[in-house]
Amino acid sequence: MNQNFFKQYISTLGTVDEVDFETAIKNGFASDGGLFVPKAIPKIKKDELERWSELEFVELASEILSLYIDESLINRDDLIMLLNNSYKEFSHPKIAPVRPLGDKDNQYVLELFHGPTLSFKDMAMGFLVNCLDYFLTKKNEHISLLLATTGDTGPAAAYASKGKKNIDCWILYPKGFISEEQERQITTLEEENIHAVGVYGCKDGGDDLDLVISEFFSNEKLKKSLSLSSVNSINWCRVLVQSIHYFYAYFQVTKDLEERIVFSVPTGAFGNLFGGYLARAMGLPIESFISSNNVNAVIHNILKKGVFSKVDLQQTFSSAIDIVVPYNVWRWLYFASGCDSSKIRSWTSNFKTKGYAKLDQQTLMNMKQHFSSEVITDAETLETMNQIYAKYGNYLLDPHSAVAVAGAYKARDRISNEIKIISLATAHPAKFPKTIIKALNTNNLPSEGLHYSIKNASEFCQNLRTCQYEHLSNGLIRSMTKVNEKRNQL
Ligand SMILES: *Cc1c(COP(=O)(O)O)cnc(C)c1O
Repeated sequence: MNQNFFKQYISTLGTVDEVDFETAIKNGFASDGGLFVPKAIPKIKKDELERWSELEFVELASEILSLYIDESLINRDDLIMLLNNSYKEFSHPKIAPVRPLGDKDNQYVLELFHGPTLSFKDMAMGFLVNCLDYFLTKKNEHISLLLATTGDTGPAAAYASKGKKNIDCWILYPKGFISEEQERQITTLEEENIHAVGVYGCKDGGDDLDLVISEFFSNEKLKKSLSLSSVNSINWCRVLVQSIHYFYAYFQVTKDLEERIVFSVPTGAFGNLFGGYLARAMGLPIESFISSNNVNAVIHNILKKGVFSKVDLQQTFSSAIDIVVPYNVWRWLYFASGCDSSKIRSWTSNFKTKGYAKLDQQTLMNMKQHFSSEVITDAETLETMNQIYAKYGNYLLDPHSAVAVAGAYKARDRISNEIKIISLATAHPAKFPKTIIKALNTNNLPSEGLHYSIKNASEFCQNLRTCQYEHLSNGLIRSMTKVNEKRNQL
């Protein structure tokens, strides 16, 4: 296989020319509306995997990423420098440690919440923003990142962007739809390039904001005049970086490469899980994945019915996975269909016009080979938080991690006891104090549910713009234009 194929990106819809890593991550979507995928996925030889098994997180990351990024864009020294910068504020020396849940039943947790904003979004956002900044600095360019958030993406993007000279970061959120803890993670940064916008009057919460955002991004003139760019969950860089922790977790719990592992992943937009798919396709001995869904159950329904369809959103305690159109599924479908972009085009068009796409038998079979799913209710989420806390030395799961762990325990019946199951813990419990109080049936947060950074943020003045939804488009254009003008005068 041509080594360059891994470093060239084509669209899942297959109607545009290939681009390099820099273009793929700056643009987010391919110009035909598809998602970027590498022209081929590298297969790692066994002796290479053995060598990787000895590496620290950042070294391992540089091995994996250098396969997908051309040296002429980022040379190896700079890549390592960017990685070191991206993970320097993680509070755990291992960055993504694995810990056993008890000592009997071969259940483990991979902790992905030791980054600065306490969620798994920090795993890839820091590196993505550092890469953008690196490319922009080389060309003396500037961009405005624009995103809407109801959860963990906003804080991660704000933190990663703060103080970057070539980036302004605009974060919209619906007032009243995000927790005060999450809001304060965005609004208590003092750096001038971070612009939090709390929007009043969003009837449908985050969906209202997504509407405005997609209006902005589909307006080529506006996109250009405001130099808009996006770091949302379909960005290839985020998905790629999210493959690293599967390798790293595997190496932490296995003796040798003969062992096969199962991962249970709380699934929202399928970005984390696609990272796992990529790791497996590269040759990591992963037996299978459990997609742990809350009652929104989109992945579960795809696997059960062979139909990818829109459903009505239900709000749950695991709000970060209250997602009804898990966009990265298109990448999974692309590979499962044998890289058949004509199928993706036809399914995409059906999905847009009819609200669903029916998959063919072969594709569905390929998907089911290494994926299964579980649906976890809010009651089961609370019960899992409660039981793990009581049983395993006051180990406190956040609601999303609890969905993963509940899925792993449910799936145990059909997975041999010999096989280790690793559940991905995607947020620190301190982000969800109200749910902890409910789950543990207590009046006071236990110390495991506290974090100094959350407490700190509660003691700062908030630094934000606010706006009524009906004035958002115009207000935003004015504010962004003013900020850009000011920057140009410097
Ligand atoms: C984003 C997020 C998820 C879901 O990850 P996807 O890549 O969207 O599937 C799960 N848990 C938490 C806490 C998150 O922030």
